[in-house]
Amino acid sequence: MAEEVIKLGGKKKSFFIDKVKELLPEGGNLNLCLTCGACSSGCPATGLAGMDPRKFLRMAALGMDDEIIKSDWPWMCTLCQRCIYVCPMKIDIPQLVYNVRTLRPREERPKGILGSCDMAIKNESCSAMGTPPDDFIFVVEDVLEEYQEAQPEFKEMLAPLDKKGTQFFLNQNSREPVTEPDEMVPLWKILHLAGVDWTYGSKGWGGENYCMFLADDKSWEKIVQTQTNQCHELGCSVYLNTE
Ligand code: SF4
Ligand code: SF4
Repeated sequence: MAEEVIKLGGKKKSFFIDKVKELLPEGGNLNLCLTCGACSSGCPATGLAGMDPRKFLRMAALGMDDEIIKSDWPWMCTLCQRCIYVCPMKIDIPQLVYNVRTLRPREERPKGILGSCDMAIKNESCSAMGTPPDDFIFVVEDVLEEYQEAQPEFKEMLAPLDKKGTQFFLNQNSREPVTEPDEMVPLWKILHLAGVDWTYGSKGWGGENYCMFLADDKSWEKIVQTQTNQCHELGCSVYLNTE
C-alpha cells in the first residue's frame, strides 16, 4: 500500500503562522499552547467537520493554510469567545477564525449569512429580513393597538418609535415583526410594568449583525454606524442590544 505523505507547511510562507504569533500574548511562542484541550471542551463547534479549536490552532501553527481555507469549520464557529476565557494562554482563536473568513471571496461565503448581510444593508432598518422602516412602524403600531384593546390591563402600554431623549434605545430581532409579531409583546409588557423609558428607532432597529459573521468589515461598520447614529440623533442615553 502506498504511503501517504502529509506536508506540513514546508518552506512556503504561511499566513496563519504569522497570525497565530500575533495572537499570542506577551510575545509568546506557539510551544506555549499547552494542547490542554480546554478550548475544545466547551466549544459548541467541537466535532463539527472533524475539527475543534485546538486542532484548528495546531493546523494553523503547522502552516496548513490550504486545508484551513478549504475547511467549512471556521464558518461553524459561533465567535462566542468561550475558548479565550478558558485558555490558560488567552489565545484569541475567534480572531483567527475571523481572519480565515476574510480570505474566502465574499460571493463564495455561506449563502445564509451572505443573504442576511445583504438584506441588512439594503435599507436603514438594518433588518436581516430586509424589512423597510415603514413596514416595521406599521407592524409595531398595529400589534400594540391589538393588545391595548384585547388586554385592558395593558391599555396604557406603549411601544414608542423614534421617541427623543429616552433612557434606552432598543433594537429588535428582525424575524419577529415579519413572522411572529406577537413575540415582540412580552418585552413591551416587562418594560411597561417596570416603568422603563425606552424607544425603538425606525432606523437601525434590526438587532442582528450578520455582516460581522460574514467578516465583511465595511458592511458591519455600516450597520453599527446606522444604529448608533439613530441612537445619538434621538438623544437616548443607553443603546441596548437585545440580540
Ligand atoms: S486552551 Fe489554549 S493552551 Fe489549551 S489547547 Fe486550547 S489554545 Fe492551546
Ligand atoms: S469562539 Fe469559536 S472556537 Fe471559540 S469556543 Fe466559540 S465556537 Fe468554539
